[in-house]
Amino acid sequence: MTDSRNDLADVLSRIKAFLRGEVYPLEQDFLRLPFRDLVPALNEKRQQVKALGLWTPHLPREYGGLGLKLSEFALVSEELGRTPIGHYLFNCQAPDIGNTEILIAHASAEQKDRYLWPLIRGEVRSCFSMTEPEHPGSNPTWMSTSAVKEGDDYVINGHKWFTSSAEGASFAIVMAITNPEVPSAHKRASQIIVPTATPGFHIVRNINVMGDEGSDYASHAEVRYENCRVPQTSLLGQEGAGFLIAQERLGPGRIHHCMRWIGICERAFELMCDYAAHRQIAPGVLLGSRQNIQEWIAESRAEISAARLLVLQTAEEIDRQGAAPVREGISLIKFFVAGILQDVLDRAIQVHGALGLTDATLLSYWYRHERAARIYDGPDEVHKAVVARSVLRRYGLQL
Ligand SMILES: Cc1cc2nc3c(=O)[nH]c(=O)nc-3n(C[C@H](O)[C@H](O)[C@H](O)COP(=O)(O)OP(=O)(O)OC[C@H]3O[C@@H](n4cnc5c(N)ncnc54)[C@H](O)[C@@H]3O)c2cc1C
Repeated sequence: MTDSRNDLADVLSRIKAFLRGEVYPLEQDFLRLPFRDLVPALNEKRQQVKALGLWTPHLPREYGGLGLKLSEFALVSEELGRTPIGHYLFNCQAPDIGNTEILIAHASAEQKDRYLWPLIRGEVRSCFSMTEPEHPGSNPTWMSTSAVKEGDDYVINGHKWFTSSAEGASFAIVMAITNPEVPSAHKRASQIIVPTATPGFHIVRNINVMGDEGSDYASHAEVRYENCRVPQTSLLGQEGAGFLIAQERLGPGRIHHCMRWIGICERAFELMCDYAAHRQIAPGVLLGSRQNIQEWIAESRAEISAARLLVLQTAEEIDRQGAAPVREGISLIKFFVAGILQDVLDRAIQVHGALGLTDATLLSYWYRHERAARIYDGPDEVHKAVVARSVLRRYGLQL
């Protein structure tokens, strides 16, 4: 950032005030209305965020952001995570946030003009198209989508799914095999920018996830690339560097997600405590007087606070040394915080009884939407294996 901690404290307090005054009051409409009906109100709030000088807070100053370190943006992400529309209103929502970062790092000047700047200005949205139904997303070196050179073009053929926000996106960053002959599986794929208006880019459907088909704000699409032809200048970075760039995208991305989840946990915790402090279970007897409720409150408080410190420590390590040496720590927080998120939401719903299942609070929305946290960006089991193997190496066991 930010020249001092005071600047960061000021940014955080302005974000807090804006969310409480301007955004929380929109949440009931967000839960109730189709997204398209909310767009005018959300656009107005996005303009307000720009006017406040808080737009794209994750970006360096030369790209219009606040120039925050990762550990500083982590605190912003926590605050924005307290409401489901926070990141979108500040233009730092997934998958655009990750795409913006890799475009800054790897795009040519022409690609920046055409794709990055409109994304930064919030004029367009984008998607990231890597996972395929026929292959394990947990092993992103193994895929079938190919990009074959013909003349000056790449011709892309393949089948993807869970391409989040594909509907309404103006371009996709697609992982495709460009160099099948290379011995290392890590160097066969490339990332290629594909405008979604390109002939051969077909959204088959929006996948129904936990009962929700999604909207153009948050959908997960099945996509087919059928002889989809783009110029070779659409290559992002070096040919064969697709896996490496994807890894770069995921390191900071896991900090963003984890802190967003901590924000959700804090809000769920407040709802749980408030309800326990006021709900009578018999005349004059408050729910919070029961020992099991107190246990849930104490356990949740301890878990959220511990998780928060762990994520912030990991973010500071990445700030100091980059993501590569912090691989064990990044995997550790990914599964640890995702698990705490599920537990805290579950307890908060249980405390609310049937009310917790309704849309009277954000709890049931988050419960449905955040179950995915234990799967996307690497399932728990894969991250646990990374941590355990790294630990065991220190004991002389190479796996
Ligand atoms: C809400 C949501 C949004 C997503 N958004 C995107 C997106 O925008 N772009 C995109 O490209 N992808 C996206 N994904 C896909 C996501 O990255 C994959 O779902 C994830 O990588 C897991 O891959 P998979 O679903 O194919 O599961 P698989 O890899 O088939 O694994 C299935 C299960 O097997 C187990 N498993 C797998 N490998 C191992 C192992 N090595 N050791 C032990 N157990 C293992 C795990 O329990 C895992 O859950 C999204 C997914 C979700 C749920």
